[in-house]
Amino acid sequence: RTNVPSDLEISRSARLLPVAEVAAAAGIPEDALELFGRYKAKVDPALLPGNRVPGRVVLVTAMSPTPAGEGKSTVTVGLADALQRAGKNVFIALREPSMGPVLGMKGGATGGGYSQVVPMEDINLHFTGDFHAITSANNALAALVDNSIFQGNPLGLDPRRITIKRVLDMNDRALREIVIGLGGPAQGVPRQDGFDITVASEVMAVFCLARDLTDLTERLARITVGYTYDRRPVTVADLGAEGAMTLLLRDALKPNLVQTLAGTPALVHGGPFANIAHGCNSVIATRTARRLADIVVTEAGFGADLGAEKYLDIKSRVADVAPDAVVVVATVRALKMHGGLPREQLAEENLPALEAGTANLRRHLENIRRFGINPVVAVNRFATDTEAELHWLREWCATEGVGAAVADVWANGGGGPGGDELAATVLEALGRPVDFRFLYPDELPVAEKIRTVARDIYGAADVEFALPARRRLDEIAARGLEHLPVCMAKTQYSFSDDATALGAPSGFTIHVRDLSIKTGAGFVVALTGAVMTMPGLPKAPAALNMKVAADGTPSGLI
Ligand code: ADP
Repeated sequence: RTNVPSDLEISRSARLLPVAEVAAAAGIPEDALELFGRYKAKVDPALLPGNRVPGRVVLVTAMSPTPAGEGKSTVTVGLADALQRAGKNVFIALREPSMGPVLGMKGGATGGGYSQVVPMEDINLHFTGDFHAITSANNALAALVDNSIFQGNPLGLDPRRITIKRVLDMNDRALREIVIGLGGPAQGVPRQDGFDITVASEVMAVFCLARDLTDLTERLARITVGYTYDRRPVTVADLGAEGAMTLLLRDALKPNLVQTLAGTPALVHGGPFANIAHGCNSVIATRTARRLADIVVTEAGFGADLGAEKYLDIKSRVADVAPDAVVVVATVRALKMHGGLPREQLAEENLPALEAGTANLRRHLENIRRFGINPVVAVNRFATDTEAELHWLREWCATEGVGAAVADVWANGGGGPGGDELAATVLEALGRPVDFRFLYPDELPVAEKIRTVARDIYGAADVEFALPARRRLDEIAARGLEHLPVCMAKTQYSFSDDATALGAPSGFTIHVRDLSIKTGAGFVVALTGAVMTMPGLPKAPAALNMKVAADGTPSGLI
């Protein structure tokens, strides 16, 4: 359909600058840089100059997506490149991809086309080893828990009520439910256990919300690992494991510096799931980027009802990262899908479906305004979009009073003119005043926080709490945890908890099946529908197409 080469081909044919040059141009002193080869480095925030006004934050989010993704990472990279091209001093802050989905089907998370962070095969695979460190810290905790049970169980841990799991950065459904400790008295105490994928661990969420090493230790110490026979919670602090865990995470906590295809500096660091966690890069990376640049472009996972809401209500509550502008990525094909067009017809021009689909985008825009921020729309251009459709969409945005731009950064790169219009629209938005406010105050009880998100953001009529969820609400009250924000685990494809209810449904009920209390991360996860914390591989895994030539050249990776 297009003559744009694959993401991997584009990335491999790029001429990268040595990362030391990228760092020097970004004002990072040499002694703050820890090189991982020529094109990757860790940055020590403690060794950065600390005297400039923090940069302004642009958050990139999206309308409810199609299963292919609407291009948030692509637009994030393209926008930053375009701002750099406009002469601005800019940094990107992005999540690190998880390797499990890369070997499965999703593809990478380094943008696409001519708007990518590079070297993409490194970033999508082992990168600088942060996920290894997070996996190890989590699994050290798991080993210490089972050892404590084995060594006379001084904490009185009930083996049936251990809440942390072992983790692995792989899609491996066979490990979801397992039995450990078999083989007789010398091998441990048998109990049912399971693996989650690393990005679903609370250690990952803690890593991404910690402001510094001290905050990391304190948050790790607060993680609930399980309950005693008389149902009292047991924490990492009770075990005394937070010191070792911090030690294992110490180096990983420094953000990773890479560059875009156009040479724009990017910090790629931390990658919590966007359902059972908050889905954005580390607080440390965002804050470090703010210390280095005038504008920081960052992204939140999933659609704006989930990603942006969590960025604004969770991440912005723990640190000074509230955005000064919000970009909502929309695509003509997603709008047509929300307007009722079947997936096979999305490539054909259809103005009535486009118009019907704007109901979805409109609700996302209204939602961002609830936080006191005026959003702008980035239309991520696909080769199948017609001029008539793009023209109609621009007019619609103008009638809605929202700034909008067509971003042609996938096919042409933000380093070229494809992102100029978006950059100008965002700069204009940055010139407008922001009156940021959270959706709900800390003191609102957790059940009411969930109702507020469901009604105000999703358009739900009501929330129904199943019995396990009601029991957890009692526990939250008893433990004095009502002040925690909520982290909604819901499908990203619909405002409701039914993935097939497209557009802007209303009058529905959100069903909260259970709650998960994350005392370390500092939020309560509300589980709606089936939430996968250990994905499986598809019938034809991407891994089976991957090869390495004799000279080391990879292929088949995205
Ligand atoms: P998200 O961050 O929203 O999940 P990505 O930026 O990762 O989305 O993009 C998802 C996939 O879609 C990538 O493979 C990317 O190359 C592709 N893509 C993004 N924008 C376009 C576009 N305008 N045209 C064609 N493919 C695109």
